Amino acid sequence: MSEQPASTTSSRSTRPPEVDRVAASRAAVAARRARASVKTAIASEERSPLDVLDAAIVHPDGPEGTLRITDFLMSLKAIGATKTKEILERLEIAPVKRLGGLGKHQRERLRDFLSERFGQTTPNGRTRLVVLAGPTAVGKGTVARHIRENYPDVLLSVSATTRSPRPDEVDGVDYYFVDDAEFDRMIADHELLEWAKVHNSHRYGTPRAPIEKALGDGRSVLLEIDLQGARQVRAAMPDAVLVFLAPPSWDELVRRLIGRGTESQEEQHRRLATAKVELASQDEFDARVVNTTVGEAAREVVDLMQVRARRPRRAATSSGR
Ligand code: 5GP
Repeated sequence: MSEQPASTTSSRSTRPPEVDRVAASRAAVAARRARASVKTAIASEERSPLDVLDAAIVHPDGPEGTLRITDFLMSLKAIGATKTKEILERLEIAPVKRLGGLGKHQRERLRDFLSERFGQTTPNGRTRLVVLAGPTAVGKGTVARHIRENYPDVLLSVSATTRSPRPDEVDGVDYYFVDDAEFDRMIADHELLEWAKVHNSHRYGTPRAPIEKALGDGRSVLLEIDLQGARQVRAAMPDAVLVFLAPPSWDELVRRLIGRGTESQEEQHRRLATAKVELASQDEFDARVVNTTVGEAAREVVDLMQVRARRPRRAATSSGR
């Protein structure tokens, strides 16, 4: 480490006169006010975040340019402190940075993030990609089916899987049942938004095209997938809302798994082991819904989509977790 220059001793003599300090503090107050009005304009959607970013690049010393990246992100709809931290880590931007002081690559990453995020929402911010995850046998499938049957505005994504159909399952409705070669092809052709090997046995994946089409048409989309898939969706589409469906208790979860009788004892053990890991991941989610009764849980999930979509950011974040 190099030594500090000997300038500290002279700092007292170089202090600005009183009158300059008053003027400087007035200017600082005015600058803070100008930044606050930029934040208000973003939050009320009067100005788009991309427009503010452009202004920051052109005028790094202006109100947009001197806005801290943290304040900027937290002015955006449905982004609170936790999401801001995650986004900044992913974009490799330090929280103290100001918009006008971002490096070229940081600016590009931020621009991509904003474009992707606003590509998933209609101008009134209603469209949402909602991911419903939770441990085995908690009733995700039942809740998702209830939503499909009772809330036709929501598209329930149909996954592809390499497992065999159960007696009551219909190809193209419950799943697309495919063999390993077809699943490999779908991966190779980038047809899947995410995929995972679940319970260490079969592969499951979300076809990308129907989701992109539905979002493009302004519809909400519900994915019922496992934790690994939920994480992949969050990485690819940061605006997705992750909902954790929890059982009323561990004993109830075991009772539901054994009670439905669709798995061998060995498979039940495997699924309960995965369930323990999944239950420990609840904090990663934006919201938690306890599945006591199916209708109630489904309504809570749908309400959550609407609440997050319609209410201002601060109220929306408080509905989570
Ligand atoms: P099941 O075999 O009981 O229908 O589903 C087993 C697990 O696979 C469930 O946890 C379900 O959420 C998950 N799953 C279903 N579809 C997908 C998918 O497209 N992607 C991922 N990652 N998991 C899925």
